[in-house]
Amino acid sequence: MNKDQILSRLDLAHFYKSLVPSLKVNGRTEALGLCPFHDDHNASLSVNIESGLYRCFSCDAKGDVFTFYQELTGVDFLTALREVGEFAGTTETNVKPTVVAKFEYKDVNGQVLYVKERIEPGRNGRSKEFVFKHLESNKWVLGRGGDPVLYRLPELVKSKYAFIVEGEAKADLLSSWGLPATCLDSGANSSIRDGCIEILSNMEKVVILPDNDKPGKSYAGKIANALHGKVKELKVVELPGLQESEDIINWVKVSGNTKERLIELIRGTSVWIPTKEEVQKEKESMVFTKLSDLFQEPEEQTKWLVDGLLPTGGFSIVVAKPKVGKSTLARGLALNIATGELFLGKEVSKGVVIYLALEEKRSEIKKHFQDMGAAGNEEIHIYVGGAPANAINQIRMSSRR
Ligand SMILES: [Zn+2]
Repeated sequence: MNKDQILSRLDLAHFYKSLVPSLKVNGRTEALGLCPFHDDHNASLSVNIESGLYRCFSCDAKGDVFTFYQELTGVDFLTALREVGEFAGTTETNVKPTVVAKFEYKDVNGQVLYVKERIEPGRNGRSKEFVFKHLESNKWVLGRGGDPVLYRLPELVKSKYAFIVEGEAKADLLSSWGLPATCLDSGANSSIRDGCIEILSNMEKVVILPDNDKPGKSYAGKIANALHGKVKELKVVELPGLQESEDIINWVKVSGNTKERLIELIRGTSVWIPTKEEVQKEKESMVFTKLSDLFQEPEEQTKWLVDGLLPTGGFSIVVAKPKVGKSTLARGLALNIATGELFLGKEVSKGVVIYLALEEKRSEIKKHFQDMGAAGNEEIHIYVGGAPANAINQIRMSSRR
């Protein structure tokens, strides 16, 4: 029994009336009553008894049947689903997590790199969760399996202009209008990667359509800042008439709001420039994430420099007693990362190596690398000598990232 099935069986007027006795149901779609979420004396709560959506005009509480029940009773989503289900006359409480939406992220040639699934309900009583999956020897495994890419990338790289939105469904909507659109893969919390910015920087025009809430605007601001000065014409277009946290999908539901109207709005919006205050604000702003939102974020998969042994982006230390082979291990690691060959039988991600030899002689290092079979053309950059203070500071700085 899922949300929709419960909703289709639920007598909405009866449900709300039993929880809000003051609710006046009088044959119309909208019923008004005292809001249980604040000290209400004016019947500020409006319930749509056809859709089940509610909203308080005073304290701005809003949501659907399940959020109403959760807010009122403090239970988690799964419990709400079960108990509202009982209201609807069903005792079948077996709610299986189901993939309700699936989005493909592709490389420039249209090859699927990974998919993002929206699953409802999520684990631990959450209403939804997102997971990334990718193919590994014909099996779907968790994680992206590589760096995040822009949504709808194959169309994007062929275009001279792009729309940036927050979420795949919105990009799909614009795309259905023939407008090349994209998003990053983790909503407003996405990190803005150089690779993505590089692709967008090749555009002549970029239009960002932020969601009408704080995270949405901050996301738009971050992308705009990253693209400023790189794209010929950059615009951030705020859609008029949106309620808090609404977006273009809500906007098009209002009659008259069409592709043509959107293009008019864009024409009437001036080119984005960061104001001094914005630059300063961006530097000073602390962005908070609610724990519940953090739980909604997709699982990050560790990227390995040496599979299962050495993660990327961190600072790893080899610790052992003297004379057991720490330096030999480190040099072997350096060599195999430079060549991309397996290390201790494990997959290696090939890259440039910087080898800081703070207590070895040049001749020793040369001999050791030769003994290990190095050809001499590997991308290993060796520094020999005591560490100058600024080098130590640089290492400290980079180890903090
Ligand atoms: Zn209220």
